[in-house]
Amino acid sequence: MINPNSQILSTPLPHREGQGGGSDLIVIGAGPGGYRAAEYAAKQGLKVTIFEGDNVGGTCLNVGCIPTKTYVHSASFAEARERMAQVVPQLRSGVEGILSHPNITLIREKASFVDANTVCPVGGDFVTASHIIIATGSETKWLPIAGANDPCVVDSTGLLNLDTLPKRLCIIGAGVIGMEFASVFRRFGSEVTVIEFLKECLPALDSDVAKRLRKQMEKEGITFHMQCGVKQIADGEVFFENKKGQTESVEADVVLMATGRKPHTEGLNLDAAGITLASNGTIPVDDNFHVATVSDGFPSGIYAIGDVNGRQMLAHAAEMQAVRAVNHILGKQDGIRFDIMPAAIFTSPEAACVGPTEDQLKAAVASGFPAGIPYECRKSFWRANGKALAMGETEGMLKLFVATDDGRLLGCHAYGAHSADIIQEVAALMCRDTTIQQLRDIIHIHPTLGEILKAATE
Ligand code: FAD
Repeated sequence: MINPNSQILSTPLPHREGQGGGSDLIVIGAGPGGYRAAEYAAKQGLKVTIFEGDNVGGTCLNVGCIPTKTYVHSASFAEARERMAQVVPQLRSGVEGILSHPNITLIREKASFVDANTVCPVGGDFVTASHIIIATGSETKWLPIAGANDPCVVDSTGLLNLDTLPKRLCIIGAGVIGMEFASVFRRFGSEVTVIEFLKECLPALDSDVAKRLRKQMEKEGITFHMQCGVKQIADGEVFFENKKGQTESVEADVVLMATGRKPHTEGLNLDAAGITLASNGTIPVDDNFHVATVSDGFPSGIYAIGDVNGRQMLAHAAEMQAVRAVNHILGKQDGIRFDIMPAAIFTSPEAACVGPTEDQLKAAVASGFPAGIPYECRKSFWRANGKALAMGETEGMLKLFVATDDGRLLGCHAYGAHSADIIQEVAALMCRDTTIQQLRDIIHIHPTLGEILKAATE
């Protein structure tokens, strides 16, 4: 069966020999998007020049996924600091190994565009290639409020750099970063308060699942102020307006700004390449992550992958976008389903999802068929699973959404121990358009948490 979401190939661009090292491909940024693009292209025989202005590995390896997960899996703040100092350099040297491929030249400089085929490092020689992949990632979006530059206010990188555990931590924002740090710092012993503008935490997660997770985190001692807007930070005090319009405040030793991330494009001189940013600061791309046209109307050889295009700010999304972009350059077809993007939140317990939330499904149905698919929601619980009981991890719920007409799996949202592993199974099945009847027939090992998914089919 032909996957309807598979890559639509346009004519591959003619190859022109590069100058300044004879590169076929220039990659700007060596995070998970950039280094994966370089690795994959080099293995396909392309000569690649990759620029990196900081440590290789990007946000993910140095100040994102990996350091935060060493925190999640450490028993104390001191152990977390120690393990992070071991794990990050170890993985970084792994990426350096990948980038030592004979087809790859790593230039440890920031790069900027000279024209649509040429990139120039600071104080270096021009490098030209017919194809350029921008993979410059994202940066913290700071709330424009008075006191945001107070020394007690940090972003996620600043929080990871603290060498003493804050007694009182106030987190602005209950998105993925805010919730993960709230969970881990509470476990280390900090008093944690989270202030969030929206009604519920984690907007990409089903609101029912998100609410249960938040209530569980409240039981662990985290204070949440929902539907509250932070107005000012002064002398270690965070002032916010509650939903009744009254001003309240929280005292904190450290304030974490976790109000989202924005594409990092500063210093790239995108004008020289004819690239205009969208109003939200992202680089607009098509389904092959190709920056469609340049100002003179000719197709460009420029691609933008990962956080910088704002599609899905996840490390695995960046890596797979890299593969798609290189495939497009090579004129190769693939079957990557970007519409099926699993994601996890490493709170305690963790949460994960793939596909739409129930609110989104309901809204689509309300808008009328065929836009909306009539669906059925099936639930199952950790407390009814033998392995979860044996592990003492009984908190959790899974919601499986199924198309009423043909039984196709539409999505799954869950919180509970190892829910990311269960969601990964659903994602694999969704990529093969599996139905609930087919899932019901798949034998699951007993006793495993995977049986929670099976239970939802019965
Ligand atoms: P990045 O990883 O940001 O890499 C971009 C690179 O480009 C950087 O190294 C930068 O120095 C370099 N660069 C920028 N400009 C230039 C230039 N002009 N010249 C040369 N180099 C340049 N995602 C997950 O999937 N799972 C998680 O558990 C997870 N946890 C996270 C936790 C935190 C605290 C944060 C902040 C993020 C987390 N993420 C997680 C998101 C993930 O880190 C990003 O989605 C991912 O790193 C994006 O990869 P990227 O290659 O697009 O960009």
